[in-house]
Amino acid sequence: MYEPLHLFIDGKWRAGSEGKTEPVRNPANGEVLGALPHASRTDLDEALAAADRSFRTWKATSPYDRERIIRKAADLLRERVDRIAPVLTLEQGKPIGEARIEVAFAADVMQWFAEEGRRAYGRIVPGRNPNLHMKVVREPVGPVAAFTAWNFPATVPARKISAALAAGCSCIIKPSEETPGTALAVARAFEDAGLPAGVLQVVFGVPAEISEHLLRSPVIRKVTLTGSIPVGKTLARLAADGLKVLTLELGGHAPVIVDADSNPTQAAELAVAAKFRNAGQVCISPTRFFVHDSIMPDFVSRFADLASALKVGDGMDPATQMGPLANPRRVEAVESMVEDAVAKGARVVTGGKRVGNIGNFYAPTVLSGVPDAARMMREEPFGPVAPINSFTSLDEAVDRSNALPYGLAAYVFTRSADRAQRLSERLDVGLVGLNSYVVAQPEIPFGGVKDSGYGRESGIEGLGAFMVDKTITQLVA
Ligand code: NAD
Repeated sequence: MYEPLHLFIDGKWRAGSEGKTEPVRNPANGEVLGALPHASRTDLDEALAAADRSFRTWKATSPYDRERIIRKAADLLRERVDRIAPVLTLEQGKPIGEARIEVAFAADVMQWFAEEGRRAYGRIVPGRNPNLHMKVVREPVGPVAAFTAWNFPATVPARKISAALAAGCSCIIKPSEETPGTALAVARAFEDAGLPAGVLQVVFGVPAEISEHLLRSPVIRKVTLTGSIPVGKTLARLAADGLKVLTLELGGHAPVIVDADSNPTQAAELAVAAKFRNAGQVCISPTRFFVHDSIMPDFVSRFADLASALKVGDGMDPATQMGPLANPRRVEAVESMVEDAVAKGARVVTGGKRVGNIGNFYAPTVLSGVPDAARMMREEPFGPVAPINSFTSLDEAVDRSNALPYGLAAYVFTRSADRAQRLSERLDVGLVGLNSYVVAQPEIPFGGVKDSGYGRESGIEGLGAFMVDKTITQLVA
């Protein structure tokens, strides 16, 4: 089920030239799934040369032909969902049903970019001088270096690769070393769809060494990362040296404001489904619940009942509703944030402990009365933890929501159209969900403000992120 792992460079599936590997582990039981080859500097130079060479031919390929290949790759991903979803669950941990949805979603994203690549229109601009003809054409920015994290191992690589390719760029991607099999399956779909050799490379290794080597190369013109804030800042510094265009998606700490007029039971039911998806390891996961004090008891009690009833286990078991955390670092981080919150006065309503002693399992956890000074209220928890606090005035809820350096997603639950509108204006984020947690779709821009990063993925903006506008003037006799 878990196939051997490779690098993919210039159309070849191969080992690293220096023979280095690292083990990939199943987070449900710690067992080794495979040996992941590391790319040497020589391998990276080959990847760069291939991306440089193929950029010229891929850029010259018509958007019509590019669409056929990317769309075919999307179709292949859909056909292969029964093979790819288990790989995703084995290496990342999420329940197999969630893995299937993710693979299907990745295919939708790829299809959307395939189609949108044909609509990257330029424009004709009327000149002051009637003999001066002016036009703006959109061109691919150049070879791309992409870096992706482990939480959505199909969607995030698929989104970056398909947007880059649809724009006419070649791409070198370094997916997470913890979830390589899924990214390789995405690359395999592109190869089988007829993508010419060298347009897409997949490399692995020591992340800091790979990003440094790729970003120092003059070949790379665009860098895109989904990851943590510290890594984003490191890549921003490296990109600045070469003045490379950068898109950063660095996670968030999404507030949820549940207004007094909300139905607390329904709001809690929606919140639990959103909170424990992928065990909370989602950059737009709802992470700070601010609930009006008049409905707080009902909200907390329904939320805790549902959370404690979730079946936690190996994601390969179809009955599992929440899998393990993706790596031991997350369990340690969540455990220490919960300890810190309790020491500062929070009450554990349910959970608050590890589950078993094999694998990276942590119980769905609900805390109330968590002081704003607790670490989990300031650092991205990225785990199955829901701190729920009450508020009395919406002004207070907005101020607390905006208090952090993060600014990715925020959610508001209210029946008042006026308040929904006003709150959506006042929240300092890139994504607002009103009575909904659905803010990530292929057709709409996705991204944050402040420390959550800059630039947008998905939507027409996501395609534009891989393009440059070229202005052409012509004096006509
Ligand atoms: P991390 O910062 O060590 O790694 C995050 C990802 O970046 C990994 O895939 C890693 O391979 C890659 N990476 C690390 N150093 C790099 C470098 N110098 N150059 C290029 N890539 C590099 O963090 P982690 O322990 O894996 O996750 C911790 C935190 O990261 C989470 O708590 C969360 O805040 C954040 N995160 C955010 C997202 C997101 O969707 N934006 C996804 C995963 C993790």
